[in-house]
Amino acid sequence: MKSSLKTAAALLALLLLLSGCAANIPADTTDAPVIVPPGPGETLPVPETAAPETEPAATEPPETEPPADEIPTFKADLSAYEAYMAPADRDGYLLLVNKTHPIAADSVPADLVYLPQEYAVYTGEWRAQMTSVAAGAYTAMLTELCANGYTDVKSTLAYRSYATQSYLYHNYIAEEMAKNPALTKEEARAIVETYSAPPGTSEHQTGLCTDMHNVYNRPDLELEDFEKTDAYLWLRDNCWKFGFILRFPRGKEAITGYQFECWHFRFVGRYHAKRIYDSGLCLEEYLEQLNKN
Ligand SMILES: [Zn+2]
Repeated sequence: MKSSLKTAAALLALLLLLSGCAANIPADTTDAPVIVPPGPGETLPVPETAAPETEPAATEPPETEPPADEIPTFKADLSAYEAYMAPADRDGYLLLVNKTHPIAADSVPADLVYLPQEYAVYTGEWRAQMTSVAAGAYTAMLTELCANGYTDVKSTLAYRSYATQSYLYHNYIAEEMAKNPALTKEEARAIVETYSAPPGTSEHQTGLCTDMHNVYNRPDLELEDFEKTDAYLWLRDNCWKFGFILRFPRGKEAITGYQFECWHFRFVGRYHAKRIYDSGLCLEEYLEQLNKN
């Protein structure tokens, strides 16, 4: 499977691969102070800032809005990118495209832009594109990634048209059948669909996701080897700050329909990315929970 992916990419000279996400490990983000129980003969310390006892008791709970999420601290100056990472249209980037939620064949994002060349592997017409807000957030994420010393991650592919997805998908099927002539077309299709989306069901058609890694110039490595790098670990734990999630986490294969993909990151905006990261849910589960509330 892994070698077939690399072979297909090489043969096609497209180097356009899958879509996916990696394990979301919920962060311990609680701000609550750690309370250590008193030992023998000890008493709990009195807080220095105890509220005055004369404070009148509130008769009604105050009407308060939940506190806004704090802007994360970055090494780089990303203030110009804040509106991309945390867009005002908070819920405008939750589009779900998967095998049961297809996207129209003629759907093309209106505002595709090329990613900065320094953060994209290929040039010319093959240079990765995303919608403008996602591209701004991606630029911020890669800028901060570099500021943290990881300078070799780039996008191999982001937006992919229906036609390109169709071309790739059918080539993968042909490749599987060539590799194992005993397979029926349906059997080959079932194999292919564990790693490649049928046309019209790829998230890449939304322009909101990108495949990115640092093994693009390493023929000795598989895509999956990206997971072993420190750059990946940094992205896994920090991508939410820029509005991205790992779209196809390990352990969620039965829900997303895809193998774990450490290289596929999806933009949803920071508000939802933080909640998805903290919860450990995949996008399908998160949206289902959101729709219930
Ligand atoms: Zn992908």
